[in-house]
Amino acid sequence: MSNVNGKPVARGVPGAHGQGPGLSGKSSASHGRGSGDFVFDMRSLGRQPGSFLDETRTAHAPDGLGSGLAVVPAGADVALDMRFEAVSEGVLVTGSAIAPLTGECARCLDPLTSSTEVSFQELYRYLPDPGEDETDDEERFLDGDRLDLEPAFRDAVVLALPLSPLCREDCPGLCAECGVRLADAGPLHGHGEDLDPRWGPLRQLEVSDRVEDRQES
Ligand SMILES: [Zn+2]
Ligand SMILES: [Zn+2]
Repeated sequence: MSNVNGKPVARGVPGAHGQGPGLSGKSSASHGRGSGDFVFDMRSLGRQPGSFLDETRTAHAPDGLGSGLAVVPAGADVALDMRFEAVSEGVLVTGSAIAPLTGECARCLDPLTSSTEVSFQELYRYLPDPGEDETDDEERFLDGDRLDLEPAFRDAVVLALPLSPLCREDCPGLCAECGVRLADAGPLHGHGEDLDPRWGPLRQLEVSDRVEDRQES
C-alpha cells in the first residue's frame, strides 16, 4: 500500500530534465564537423581586406570540455562575442567567450559552480592552393564560407580551466585526521592529545602553514 487512492505514484523519471541518455541527437551532431553552434557563415563578410563583421551568439558547449576538477558542462550556454575581419590570407577572429564551469573544490571537495571567460585571436586561413602543401597542425582553415570556431574555443577553454578550483580563496579544506570540512567544524576543531604521535609534526606543520597564509593576505 504505497498510495492512498490507487493512482500510480509519479516517480522521478531519469532524464526528465533533459540530461538523459535518450536525448543524444544533439551530442552526436556535435562530434566531428561541429554542431553548428560554433559555425559562422562568412558569406556576408566577403574577402575584401578590412571589412569586418560583429556577431554575438549563445552556443551550446560541446562534449568533453575539461577534465579533472573543473569542466564546462556539455550543452551549457556559452556566450560568444566575436569580430570577424577579412585580411589578405583569411579571416582574423577576435573575441571572447563566457562559459559556465562546474567542478569540485580542490581542498574540501564541495561542488562548485563558476564561470570562465576566454579571449581569442585566431587567424583562419583560406584553404591553401593545391600546389602548396602546408600541413602545419597549428593552422586553422576556413571550410569554404564556413568558419568553425569550435576547435579554437576548445583549445582556449582547456587552457583557461583552473587546475585547482577553490570554493573560496581561503577554503580551509578538510581535517587531515577525520576528514570533516574545517569551514563547518570551526577553528577550534582538533583531536586532542590522544592521536597517533606520528601525526604530531604534521599537525604543527599545518598550523604554521596556515599562519603564513594569513600573513600573506
Ligand atoms: Zn572548498
Ligand atoms: Zn578532525
